[in-house]
Amino acid sequence: MWPRLYPHPERLPRLVFADAEGRIYDHPKFLAMGLSGYDVVLPEREDFIPLPQGSALYVLPDRHPIGFDPEQEKPVVLYENPYSPGEPAFALAAYLAPAHTQLYLCPYVESKRLPPLPLFSYAACGFWRGRFWATAFRSDFDHRQEVRFFDEKRIEERAKAALNRFSGNRLVEHLVVNCVRRYRCPAARNFVLGRFEAPVPTSSSCNARCLGCLSSQDEEGPPVAQERIKFAPTPAEIAEAMVPHLRQAPRAMISFGQGCEGEPLLQADLIAESIRLIRKETARGTINLNTNASLPEAIMYLREAGLDSIRVSLASARPHYYESYFRPRGYSLADVKESIRRMKRLGGFVSLNLFVFPGLTDEEKELKALEEIIALGVDFIQLRNHAIDPLWYLRKINFKPEGNCLGVKGLVDHLAKTFPRLRFGYFNPPLR
Ligand code: SF4
Repeated sequence: MWPRLYPHPERLPRLVFADAEGRIYDHPKFLAMGLSGYDVVLPEREDFIPLPQGSALYVLPDRHPIGFDPEQEKPVVLYENPYSPGEPAFALAAYLAPAHTQLYLCPYVESKRLPPLPLFSYAACGFWRGRFWATAFRSDFDHRQEVRFFDEKRIEERAKAALNRFSGNRLVEHLVVNCVRRYRCPAARNFVLGRFEAPVPTSSSCNARCLGCLSSQDEEGPPVAQERIKFAPTPAEIAEAMVPHLRQAPRAMISFGQGCEGEPLLQADLIAESIRLIRKETARGTINLNTNASLPEAIMYLREAGLDSIRVSLASARPHYYESYFRPRGYSLADVKESIRRMKRLGGFVSLNLFVFPGLTDEEKELKALEEIIALGVDFIQLRNHAIDPLWYLRKINFKPEGNCLGVKGLVDHLAKTFPRLRFGYFNPPLR
């Protein structure tokens, strides 16, 4: 199941850490370790791949790294920089490039109770033979978000052209000014480049309060990553911008439900009208909805209006962890399952947007609960890295390890055997 795309290090990489100025070092002898739930583990050589292009390395402030001391043959917390005694050493994590899924998180101890880290994923990484390595695998071969295919100059030229072509269209203005120029959103950049999947945000409100919401957070939560859209584009604005995209883009797709908005199902009438307007003009391309799938009736209504696929966000398939993460208002995991049932009954395509968190996602109990949902007819699992402060998250959901983890690759292997028709990836698959 795992084509060998990348080399593995001949030896286990060494621990990496940073000083207060953010300078990065590799430890003279400690080895890099990984975090699975609350367990600190020594990964296998085969778990490491070269840090993929487009990844970032983040220093975790006031958090000390854990490395494996081969002499003592045990994990050790590194409080001080061995190259500058008395100076603190801080943990370093990898924020993986899209299309790569983490196998282990970065292990660290907090110097005190700390506010949560920003909403990124924090994978385990190390250093060996002149390069950085991360515990990950390539989970999708689609190159729609590969940095090497994003030409900044061309993006800005096309962004200007889009503003001229769709002058007065508030949706296009939002996508260009906010998403392309301010947040460098890969989906919005692909829209102005006229290719692949284009984003269509519509909703400024939500019926959940996810701990990891990118666009709305409580006082004590992590910093918001994106400002939430403040208006609802009209069906005419949506059709004007998206019909040309669906007509001509390679592997054309449009997706309602983006990081810069609330829950799109709360705009079901607007989205249904938009789909009808679009399908009057073109049958080409895929119309997808990224959603918390909280409203089964609305899912049916949109499917009947012409929606092709839904992507259902899932941090855990176990009700108590689901509730603790999504903090739903007026719906439950049972409604989410009912939405999947109805979309399948109406012949629609269903993906799970699985927030992969090693030590939780691959626990045997989680697997059992996940299998129940997949058995409803799920077609595709997107193996996304949960973008959240690991220790803060586990505390917030009151995580109680139940052991028996299969490993992320083990989980995927098991699901592939149990559900031979099930496909895996990282991105929404084009269907037409
Ligand atoms: S469902 Fe989406 S918009 Fe709503 S709280 Fe969760 S992440 Fe935010």
